[in-house]
Amino acid sequence: MWATREWDNVDVSLIPSITLEQAVEIGFTYIGGQQQNDQFIELPHLEIIPFSRDGWDGTIGEGYEYHLVWAFSFRRPNYLNTWEFLVEAHSGELLALQDTNYYTTKKITGAIYPYTNDGCGVEGKAMMTPMIFADTGFSPPNQHTNLGGIYDYIAGWAITNLYGLYSNICDVSANDCTEYTGCSPIYEYSNTGDIDLEGRDGEHDKDYPLGHSEGDTFSTRTVTYELGYLNAIARGWLNSQESNHFLDMQLTSRVNDCGISCNASYWIDDNMFLFGRSTDECGNTGEILSLIDHEWGHALDEHDANGTAMNPTEAFPDIVANYRTYGSCVGRGLCIGLTTNYCYKPGFYCTAWHCPVQNSDSHFGHNCYQYGDCCSDCTEIRDSDYAKHASGMPHTISNWSCPVCGGIPHCAAIPVTEAAWDLVMRDLQSFPFNYDKNTAFEIGQRLLYTGSGNILNWYSSNCSSPDPYSGCNADSGYKQWLAADDDNGDINDGTRRI
Ligand SMILES: [Zn+2]
Repeated sequence: MWATREWDNVDVSLIPSITLEQAVEIGFTYIGGQQQNDQFIELPHLEIIPFSRDGWDGTIGEGYEYHLVWAFSFRRPNYLNTWEFLVEAHSGELLALQDTNYYTTKKITGAIYPYTNDGCGVEGKAMMTPMIFADTGFSPPNQHTNLGGIYDYIAGWAITNLYGLYSNICDVSANDCTEYTGCSPIYEYSNTGDIDLEGRDGEHDKDYPLGHSEGDTFSTRTVTYELGYLNAIARGWLNSQESNHFLDMQLTSRVNDCGISCNASYWIDDNMFLFGRSTDECGNTGEILSLIDHEWGHALDEHDANGTAMNPTEAFPDIVANYRTYGSCVGRGLCIGLTTNYCYKPGFYCTAWHCPVQNSDSHFGHNCYQYGDCCSDCTEIRDSDYAKHASGMPHTISNWSCPVCGGIPHCAAIPVTEAAWDLVMRDLQSFPFNYDKNTAFEIGQRLLYTGSGNILNWYSSNCSSPDPYSGCNADSGYKQWLAADDDNGDINDGTRRI
């Protein structure tokens, strides 16, 4: 009773009714049995434990009751927890099973480019973010950070290789492009539990913070962050079966690759992404969020309900990027030069692009050519907003896909991506819906993820027929999104919004 302010008469028998061995068996039976390597931290012993009495009416001296208990604690290999059992020594009831460790919350952070890497506006400059689902170097259940980059820490060295739950990175920035010499190490650590991978605005490609490992580059951190974030978005709408377990996979990304400069790619056979290092003409594609989103969209498309790519193949990845970033331009920051085919065709210049918030004469890139209808505010190949083109007109099957595209999937996808952008930015935000922007995009995300799994052909077109319009095939984007928007299984009596 030393230092105790309030107590009751201890009227419990101090002779236990069950043995130490019985108490241990009761405790371990509750968690499926004792295992060979379980290690006792506190050996079983008797204690008198005060409990507040059930239904106490406030009478002085009646508030507590006492139990004689067998108390013991143990640890199990590969778990940090210290589990304590309290078994009532007369009734044999298991009164408590609790983890007695005191945890602190620690974090793994680093700098990324939050939208693009072109230095224009806050969206084009480096910012600190959590490293999502990153490895920590500790045992389960604390082996990864969460969506906020934090995890439970007790003691010891935290080490991350960014070998995460859904992503691992091979940074080839040290390769000189004549031979493949493997991945640069990513090895960041601290003895406080907090790891800051750092990174400063203006660094690109193979730049890494002083004193850090060579693979700790902007594209390494940006891809790690974005693949975790995309996984979390998709997981909000799809379960792992619906993605054929794609959402459970750890995907490899090779960043700073010099064989794929000015581009990015998804290799389906290896479930691997490639992102190119910068050149005089192009920004680093692993530092541009919408390009990471686009490639990941290809990967999900290959693993969705019907398991095959939609036609045209480029529509779904662009909508993934548009809806994720709230931006119609896919790849802002890629066209920093004048001579790539993306920005410029011989004899066909589009205008230089200036940073609108920096009031500067120096241009940050060139507006995209987009198969002959110049973009007005996008330094990459495509903009999904028809109003941001020289023509200012929606692109359709009859005025665009048939006469212009010649089967090029990036071109033929444009009527689809413009329709999807128009839905969230205009239709859902105006009469009769009048949703705010966030709600409109959330509805769009839902239709995109729950409604696209069985799309095979976004539209069907027979360009030699007099009327090539058709979005009404059963496997079309229109019919599949209608079904996703429906509330009673019958799309003929209308759906909630479309
Ligand atoms: Zn693509």
